[in-house]
Amino acid sequence: MNYYSLNKKAPNTTFKNAVVKGLAPDKGLYFPESITPLSKDFFDNIEQLTNAEIAYETIKQFVLPEIPEVELKTIVEETLSFEFPIVELNENISTLELFHGPTMAFKDVGARFMARCLGYFNQDNTNEVTVLVATSGDTGGAVANGFLGVKGVNVVILYPSGKVSDIQEKQLTTLGQNITALEVDGVFDDCQDMVKRAFLDEELTNKMQLTSANSINVARWLPQMFYFMFAYKQLKRKYKKIVFSVPSGNFGNICAGMMAQKLGLPIKHFIASNNENNVITEYLKTKHYNPKPSVQTISNAMDVGNPSNFVRIQEIHKNNFNALQDNFSSFSFSDTETKEAMLEIYNDFNYAADPHGAVGYLGAKSYLNDNPDAHCVFLETAHPTKFLDVVEEVINTKIDLPPQIEAVMGKEKASIIIDAYKDLKNYLIS
Ligand SMILES: *Cc1c(COP(=O)(O)O)cnc(C)c1O
Repeated sequence: MNYYSLNKKAPNTTFKNAVVKGLAPDKGLYFPESITPLSKDFFDNIEQLTNAEIAYETIKQFVLPEIPEVELKTIVEETLSFEFPIVELNENISTLELFHGPTMAFKDVGARFMARCLGYFNQDNTNEVTVLVATSGDTGGAVANGFLGVKGVNVVILYPSGKVSDIQEKQLTTLGQNITALEVDGVFDDCQDMVKRAFLDEELTNKMQLTSANSINVARWLPQMFYFMFAYKQLKRKYKKIVFSVPSGNFGNICAGMMAQKLGLPIKHFIASNNENNVITEYLKTKHYNPKPSVQTISNAMDVGNPSNFVRIQEIHKNNFNALQDNFSSFSFSDTETKEAMLEIYNDFNYAADPHGAVGYLGAKSYLNDNPDAHCVFLETAHPTKFLDVVEEVINTKIDLPPQIEAVMGKEKASIIIDAYKDLKNYLIS
């Protein structure tokens, strides 16, 4: 499959090139040249398939033949070595738990898939790649873990100092080997800006092959389609009108859901659930896209003021505002509302949600007000222990640390503090 740049000023390119480069030379995001729906048979019989089989069918048109069938099947199987259970809260609301991977964040799937693709492309050790990532919290840990020990790949992670949770910080600063954490004196947008600048810095890109592992990278973005397929597999017999509420930051996850819908998955509607970073909620109300500096919230992986995947969402809807509005709603909630929701979910359903999941729950409830016949699935994107301070305070209960988390807490943090782009550049060149 070839990919084109959404800025339309760069040549179309292969899957391999799109993965290795991350962003097109004209700074556009890559988008597949075609999307062919899967057969009716596939959806009719999806319950009979394993997760790996579903995932292979879902992704193959975007990857073959550059990664051959056998290798792609192996990559998919290794990527999906954990569960994706649905928990039904009542007849209108379920949650899809995406936190059973090694770092307990939904980004594990995209990171593991992308790392294995790069590993495949670098088999003969001809080109070293440096993966440069800005994280608002979870990406860093998932990417670091997914890429740990992959030969020929160095990973450099930028995170905003003091603005990620203790557990998140440990997950991205304690691995060593081919992973380096740069601690930025600033907010997530500063990290993201520095990363974007590095990709455009020819002095740097002439010296080294840089790539991204944020959801702008097609190999990080596309595997997220799997989640929506897995949810459908578990719920299709019981509910006819399935709607997804997706806690959104850079809008990669929800946009992958819309790709699954393009493949024929019968999803009725998407809800982007946001914290106070409400650029898209405002856009759907006013038709004006007005990016803003991000504000800090308790659901910090969604503290994004200018969501990079929104252009892909527009492309999927052929830049037609009415089509977008029919398929997509967006709600935004304060930290106070989020905490109230966490308590409500705990009291009413005996379920401990993390702040991101709680925002997703609130989006589901808002949608159900006007659409009581829908079954809303909110994605639970992180395990509650990753936001332990907030969760324990709100539900007033101790949560046991899962073994994956326990293991990193005792390790020593190692980071390099930087405050400007020149520091990043110096580090990369040295
Ligand atoms: C990254 C992240 C999100 C937002 O996902 P996007 O694809 O950027 O919209 C939501 N919740 C958690 C826990 C995350 O780590």
